[in-house]
Amino acid sequence: MQALLKTLEEIGFETVKELDVSTLKALPEVRQMCEVNTCGVYNTRWSCPPGCGSIEECDKIMHQYTHGILVQTIGDIEDTLDWEGIMEVKEVHDKRFLQGTERIKEHLDEVLPLGDGACTRCQKCTYPDAPCRFPDLKSSSMEAFGLFVSDVCKKNGVGYNYGPGKMCYTGCYLFCI
Ligand code: SF4
Repeated sequence: MQALLKTLEEIGFETVKELDVSTLKALPEVRQMCEVNTCGVYNTRWSCPPGCGSIEECDKIMHQYTHGILVQTIGDIEDTLDWEGIMEVKEVHDKRFLQGTERIKEHLDEVLPLGDGACTRCQKCTYPDAPCRFPDLKSSSMEAFGLFVSDVCKKNGVGYNYGPGKMCYTGCYLFCI
């Protein structure tokens, strides 16, 4: 665990904290928020519902893992209308998150990465015509797995809203050690 925490800190995440997997619960109401499709990627990627599995399947998958780490990228923005600034923080987080998955795989055979948004590993996802190109590396969002992210943060002693002028993206990695 110490080696994994250090690896993720080296990548640059502002928050790196061990996660208590018993705090993870897939909630149907969070999945229903995905179905509203405000992000516009519902049913377009293997990482997203319905391609990532039913809420019951996601809950079962998450609980196969005994340990986890929460990570966050926290960046500066001018205000909530600073779309460019918000997207810059997101881009940094997505790059770090992909790198984190690969670095954890150097230590462990298997990891379940749950990020902030749809899988961005391929420019164009193979969904639904062909199997996922990287089933071991693809990442769903925490929300796609039914997690109420602010609640998971709270239960693990991690902040979620860092106040005006700050933007935060959250993800987690689940694994067995
Ligand atoms: S790894 Fe590629 S094919 Fe698999 S879910 Fe992600 S984008 Fe789609």
